[in-house]
Amino acid sequence: MSQSLMTALRASAAHLPESLIVKAFKHGFGKPGLIPLWAGEGDIPTPAFICEAASAALTRGETFYMPNRGIPPLREAIARYHTRLFGRSFSADEFFVTGGGMQAVQLAVQMIAGAGDEVVVPGPAWPNFRGALECNGAKAVTVPMSFGRNGWQLDLDALFRSVTPRTKAIVINSPSNPTGWTASEAELRAILDFTRAKGLWIIADEIYMRFFYGADGKPGGLAPSFQTLRTTTDRIVFAQTFSKNWAMTGWRIGWLQAPAELGQVIENLVQYNTSGVAPFMQAGAIAALEDGETFATDQIARAAEGRRIVTAALAANNAARYVPPQGAFYAFFGVDGFDDSLDVTFRMIDEANVGLAPGVAFGPEGAAFLRLCFLRDPVQVADAMSRVSGWLKTAK
Ligand code: PMP
Repeated sequence: MSQSLMTALRASAAHLPESLIVKAFKHGFGKPGLIPLWAGEGDIPTPAFICEAASAALTRGETFYMPNRGIPPLREAIARYHTRLFGRSFSADEFFVTGGGMQAVQLAVQMIAGAGDEVVVPGPAWPNFRGALECNGAKAVTVPMSFGRNGWQLDLDALFRSVTPRTKAIVINSPSNPTGWTASEAELRAILDFTRAKGLWIIADEIYMRFFYGADGKPGGLAPSFQTLRTTTDRIVFAQTFSKNWAMTGWRIGWLQAPAELGQVIENLVQYNTSGVAPFMQAGAIAALEDGETFATDQIARAAEGRRIVTAALAANNAARYVPPQGAFYAFFGVDGFDDSLDVTFRMIDEANVGLAPGVAFGPEGAAFLRLCFLRDPVQVADAMSRVSGWLKTAK
């Protein structure tokens, strides 16, 4: 593109960083025999019962404009799903259907932070938090997490110290992509108390809350959640998605959960952003919530098995810096002598035929790490790990 076109753009759009996860993906996409572990998704397509519910709705003629907040039966199904998981009642009025978890994050930011505002984000972090903030002219302030013998840790004092008079919100992604760090209930409570005292928002991304592992590495139920601590008037919004539990990443459907009294604001924002989500996709989403429990449980078990295989392989490598993640479905590891993650990622694509995401994509704190998604056929995960181990032995 010519320079004059770029300079004619709004600076916050022109200067958005390229996602380095996408850069790795573009470098290796379509390479024969490559095992792709770079993206946050598994290898199983959406189960048939969900697809059939969507195609039946399409065939029935569900092709018209729908309410911006989402169709009532889906909002009610989301509320019932939460009631099932958390054992207390939820109202459909606090749920808003979005174009994926990504759009839920984008809407949350649009509601809360704009030019001149700061939002605190512990890092390494999924780069789209920063991206969504920068799209809106707001600034992401990173609080670096540290890696040690117990894995990644967030220093709450450092988190609280990073708040300035410009701060509007704190992003808490637990379990975290990419690190797998999972806040304890005591940490969540301390963060909530702090934000209440300061009048700040929490943007809670708990999309991986069901991918949580016990000390034995087996699925461990639900990760600690703000859902059990908050009241319905707390300044907290949740981004959520159908993508992970039900293998629906390509659908682009999720939800935002926010205090019901913000309903009109969210309706307006959806209207002016996208004007809602296709009704037949919402029909598929209802099937996921109502009939998808076995599938979701199988996905979680598959992730636990992938985690076991990756952990065993990395334990055999003395140069690996790795602690098994408490949550989500990524191994975020470093290997001494291989500290330039972008270079290592590209070389592994070219020479080992394995696609990973470079840790630098998640901020400078992650620059010497690699992210590997283990939600995949265990045979392929094992194959990928032997390719990675073999490459590390010979590469210089
Ligand atoms: N939050 C986090 C932490 C994620 O890792 C992702 C997906 N990688 C999302 C939100 C959004 O997922 P989607 O837009 O597919 O719903």
